[in-house]
This record gives sequence, structure tokens and C-alpha cells, in this order.
Amino acid sequence: MENILAVVQPDKLRAQIAELNEKAAAPDLWDDPSAAQAVTSALSHRQSELDRVTQMGLENPRLFALTRTALSSLGRVDHAQVPAVCAAHLLKTLAFAGLRPSLDVCVSCGRDVEAVPESGLMALSYQEGGAVCAACRSSVETVLVPASTVAWCRALLSSTFAEFSVLRFCQQWVSEHGGANLKSLNFLFTCGLF
Ligand SMILES: [Zn+2]
Repeated sequence: MENILAVVQPDKLRAQIAELNEKAAAPDLWDDPSAAQAVTSALSHRQSELDRVTQMGLENPRLFALTRTALSSLGRVDHAQVPAVCAAHLLKTLAFAGLRPSLDVCVSCGRDVEAVPESGLMALSYQEGGAVCAACRSSVETVLVPASTVAWCRALLSSTFAEFSVLRFCQQWVSEHGGANLKSLNFLFTCGLF
């Protein structure tokens, strides 16, 4: 890292950019069009070089791998799966950044939240970061979210992109040959999450 900074010398670049900016602001700049062009093109080159190198040190291999997997999944899946892959990627990225929602444990008291049937509603506090148990509901501001949405968040957080494709495959298969519609899977594509 230090070697790279020694090679690209961002401070020197910044100084050159300041100097070029001054030249570019001169009122008589375009009196000599070819010189003016040289100044503006040098300025834009230096600026993009600086933008590239000043991102150094922010690289994150795990996040990069996660995003690469999501993008390559997007290239393989069919149109209907795209929202779910995007949702999964967002949830996983947030979890990775330390913003995993608490979906099984009450964010206020730490106790397990009561099981809610899939057709029911769960109390959630976006501000506090997750589910709120019945006992804490009077002291925390909550919104009601379909329990099936929460179930899908759990599933997406814990499944890989490859596993998700398998789910979609099963849904298609059952609907084609079993004559049944897996409602909870259909929900994934129609719920307000996406
Ligand atoms: Zn509680």
C-alpha cells in the first residue's frame, strides 16, 4: 500500500490539479484553442487518476466476492428471479456491514419473539433494528410487517444464491407437474419487499 502511494503520489496529483484548475479558469484560456484543449484534457486525466487511486485502502475482498457472485447470478437467472437476487444481495451486504436485522430476538428485551403464522403480521421496529415482542410493543414504535416477508428475509440471509435458484426451480416444477401453486414462493416475487 505504501509502495503504491509512493508511485502514484496523490499529493503531487492534487497539486497538479490545483495548478491546472487555475489555468483552466483563466479568461483568455480559449484564445489559444489547442493549448486550452491540452489544459482541460490534462485536468480530466489527472482528476480521474486521482479518483481511482484515492479509493485505495477501501477495498474489501469479501464484499467484492459477494457482489461478484450476485452479479454473476443475475446473468444466469431468469427475469422473475432478479428482484429476489437483488434483495438477497442487499440483505447480505447489510448483514456483512453489521446491519443484520434481528428477526428472531426482540430488539428491546432480547427475548425470543413469539412465532407468528405465515399469514399473520409481525411487529417490527426499523429504527431499533428488528422484531419486537408482544411485551415490548407498548414501549417501542413498531410497524406491522407480513410474517411471510420476515420469513423470506431470514431465508435470503441464510441461503446462498445457488440455493435460491433451486427454490425457483422447485416452484416451477411443482406448478407445472403437481398442479399446485406454492403461495409462499409466489409471495417472494409479489411482496412489497422488492
Ligand atoms: Zn421484548
